[in-house]
Amino acid sequence: MIRITVCFLLLTCMASCGILKPRSKAPVVFANNIVVAHRGAFKKNKLPENSIASLKQAIALNCTGSEFDVRMTSDDSLIINHDPAFKKLPIEQTTYAELIKHSLSNGEKLPTLREYLLAGMENNTATRLICEIKPSEISKERGKQIAAKTVALVHALRARERVVYISFDYDILKKIVALDPGVPTQYLNGDRSPEQLKADGITGADYHYSVFKKRPEWIASAKQLNIALNAWTVNDAETMEWLMANDFEFITTNEPELLMELMQKTLTRNGWKLVWSDEFNDQGEPDSTKWGYHPGAHGGGNNELQYYTANDTLNAVVANGVLKIIARKEIRENKAYTSSKLQTRNKAAFTYGRIEVRAKLPAGRGTWPAIWMLGTNIDSSTWPACGEIDIMEHVGYEKDSIYGTIHSDAYNHIKGTQKGKAIYTADPYSRFHVYAIEWSPEKIDFMMDGVVYNHIRNEHLSVKEWPFDAPFYLILNLAIGGGWGGKKGVDDTIFPATMEVDWVRVFQTK
Ligand code: MG
Repeated sequence: MIRITVCFLLLTCMASCGILKPRSKAPVVFANNIVVAHRGAFKKNKLPENSIASLKQAIALNCTGSEFDVRMTSDDSLIINHDPAFKKLPIEQTTYAELIKHSLSNGEKLPTLREYLLAGMENNTATRLICEIKPSEISKERGKQIAAKTVALVHALRARERVVYISFDYDILKKIVALDPGVPTQYLNGDRSPEQLKADGITGADYHYSVFKKRPEWIASAKQLNIALNAWTVNDAETMEWLMANDFEFITTNEPELLMELMQKTLTRNGWKLVWSDEFNDQGEPDSTKWGYHPGAHGGGNNELQYYTANDTLNAVVANGVLKIIARKEIRENKAYTSSKLQTRNKAAFTYGRIEVRAKLPAGRGTWPAIWMLGTNIDSSTWPACGEIDIMEHVGYEKDSIYGTIHSDAYNHIKGTQKGKAIYTADPYSRFHVYAIEWSPEKIDFMMDGVVYNHIRNEHLSVKEWPFDAPFYLILNLAIGGGWGGKKGVDDTIFPATMEVDWVRVFQTK
């Protein structure tokens, strides 16, 4: 017991001293999707349910929530497990020390709530921690003690802003509301109306989807009362689509990847139509019907240090569902590095639309990856009059910033008048983000993961300010060095450096 207390104090001290870094300095902005991974994203990668690995996978997928189940051992340790027994040992009648003699199927230790919350706050600025408190099989009272201990730990770890409490036991939720009024709570059992939830201070209805099918009037009243709508556990496309059509805020699923895919298609129903895409599901060289190269030692006009190759899978290759653009330290035609610049020039061009690219960026000083567009009239009208739209630019020496910018005759970086803004991200290297623009005759919005961070309005002056009513082609490249990327030199230990692109999707209005 003493040993446990000492560990507890040590951990608390380490947390408060910042040694465990439980909070990332980036602000928490929940992912702009409806996907709650049920017991973490376990299924596709055959991870154990409720493991830290499945939680990390849900965070990597950018799910808006990841669910897990809290139970308490006979000696009052809060641990994460769905069933009342772990390895045939009844949790409430077994000590923590006895339980952790057994591990999860991936070798992971049976997680404590503390370990789970800390893991859920590390490198996570987008995924809610959906904390289900299981009722006690011993007594109603013990269930409420579990709730109180959980709330206290969430506060001690400063995890409150990330947590949503859910339970099948109404009294457990009422206890939480009494302890922490205003904290998000969702009831699971499907036998209370939104009016009752509202009256008891419970903020959401997370019911089996069949409940909502039987009582569609609850969907309407929940919306009127500002009661969040969630449904469990939805694993088929048809039900997901029905819930999406009814504007559910959350869907809890064992198939988060499927729901993410359906959400993309739903864009279609919201007035957007997928007109061009590359999901990078083939192997080898990028699809030559979609992509061409811009080879040579031209330096991109910014005195960059790379030689761009063509048809070389060492620099551009599709494998395992992603395109990799790889910069290497390798001398070619007096350039110190090789890399690749892919473009849809003479293959595909777009005027207006929503253009989305899911990508993970290369790390290291000297890198300058970009996802961008140029006017197809570049040869006749020349740069910058042709217009440039930088959907995503990043320089390795400034690792927390993503830039979205336009250039035109009137607004460009030569004059220092370009219109750019940055969005902060803690993890452009460890996680995929969706970099996008929404472009119409009136505006171009620059987005990361659905958050608009730069809004450029068409001032309706002249083509000098706004050359964006014309076709533009797409470019994906990884430059090394150059006027911006090389401002602080190049770290030669970072190679090969790789930008990964999961997909490119272009939507236009029907
Ligand atoms: Mg659960």
